[in-house]
Amino acid sequence: MRGRVVARAVVVGCGVAGLSAAIALRERGFGVRVVAREPPERTTSAVAAAVWYPYRAYPEERVLSWGARTFEVFRGLAADPRTGVRLGEGVELLRRSAPGEPWWREAVSGFRRCREEELPPGCRGGYRFVAPVAEMPAYLAYLLDRLRGAGGTLELREVSSLEEAGEGADVVVNCSGVWARELARDPSVFPIRGQILRVANPGLERFVLDEENPAGLTYIVPRSGDCVLGGTAEEGRWSTEPDPATAEAILRRCSALEPRLRGARVLEHRAGLRPGRPEVRLELEELPGGTPCVHNYGHGGSGVTLSWGCAEEAAALAGAALS
Ligand SMILES: Cc1cc2nc3c(=O)[nH]c(=O)nc-3n(C[C@H](O)[C@H](O)[C@H](O)COP(=O)(O)OP(=O)(O)OC[C@H]3O[C@@H](n4cnc5c(N)ncnc54)[C@H](O)[C@@H]3O)c2cc1C
Repeated sequence: MRGRVVARAVVVGCGVAGLSAAIALRERGFGVRVVAREPPERTTSAVAAAVWYPYRAYPEERVLSWGARTFEVFRGLAADPRTGVRLGEGVELLRRSAPGEPWWREAVSGFRRCREEELPPGCRGGYRFVAPVAEMPAYLAYLLDRLRGAGGTLELREVSSLEEAGEGADVVVNCSGVWARELARDPSVFPIRGQILRVANPGLERFVLDEENPAGLTYIVPRSGDCVLGGTAEEGRWSTEPDPATAEAILRRCSALEPRLRGARVLEHRAGLRPGRPEVRLELEELPGGTPCVHNYGHGGSGVTLSWGCAEEAAALAGAALS
C-alpha cells in the first residue's frame, strides 16, 4: 500500500513488535520510519522459538485478547509459505500443575487433553493443540519486505532518547524491547535471558513444551530446516553470550524427552533477552516537548504471540493521539 500520508510516525525498534507496529501504522495511512540499533536478524525476536503461546506476559485478560487477534492474523499468514509462518501441532506437558482448563484454551484450535499413553514418564497430564509457529529469520525478513513494499523505511542507528527519535515526527512508537529500561526510563523492565540451540531436524514434526521439567525449562520446536531446542529463563541476566554448559544441559534434557535428538548436528547457539515486565506496557504518553509517544514493550516470553494484537492497538492509539 502506498496511500495518502496523514501523519509521520517514527517507530523505535525492528524486532517483531516494531515491524508489526510499523506495518499497522502504515496501513492506517501514517508515513513510517523505523529507527533501530540492530537489524532484524540481530534482535531478541530473531532468537525466539517462536510458537504462539502466552508465556511470562501479563495481565492475562489483555494478553488473551492480543494473543487471540495475533492467532487469527497468523492463521491467514500461514496460507502463504513465503511468510515463514505455519500452523503446527504440539503438546504441552504438565508435571506439577493439575491438568485443568488452561486460561488460553479459547484462543487455540484443535485443543484436547493428552491420553495417558501419549505422556512421557513423570507427567500428570498434557494438552495437545494446534498453534502458529513463526520461523523468525524468514518471518522478520517478510515483515521488513512488506513494510518497505508499503513505502516504510528502516534506518539503522541508535537513539539516545525518545525525544531525539521523535524529531521531525508527529508521533513516536516505542518498541525497544528490554532496552526500554533505559530509553523509557522504566526500572520495572528486566531481562529474562533465554538460551537455545539450533540442530538439524531428525524428522520431528510436533513441538513439545515442558516448562515444568524438574531438570529445567525444556522445549523442542521443529521447523522446516532445523529444530530449536531450549531453554532457559534467567531473570536479571543481561549476557547474550551462549554458555557451553547450559547448551549441553539443554541438549541432554531435549534428548531425554525425544530420543531422536541424540547425536543431532548442532548448527548454532544463541541467547536472547526477553523483555520482562510486571505488565505489558501499551499506552500513550506525552514526551517532554509535547510529541505523543505510544509505548509497546514488555511482552516477556510472548512478543511473537501478542505481536499483531499489540501492533493494531498501538496504531489505533497513535491515530487517536493525533485526531
Ligand atoms: C530463547 C527465546 C525464546 C522465545 N520464544 C518465544 C516464543 O516461542 N513465542 C513468543 O511469542 N515469544 C518468544 N520469545 C520472546 C520474544 O522473542 C520477545 O518477546 C520479543 O522478541 C520481543 O520483541 P521486541 O520487538 O519487543 O524486542 P526486540 O526483538 O528485542 O527488538 C528491540 C529493538 O529495539 C531496538 N532498540 C533498543 N534500544 C534502542 C535504541 N536506544 N536506539 C535504537 N534502537 C533501539 C533494538 O535494536 C531492536 O531492533 C522468546 C525469546 C527468547 C529469548
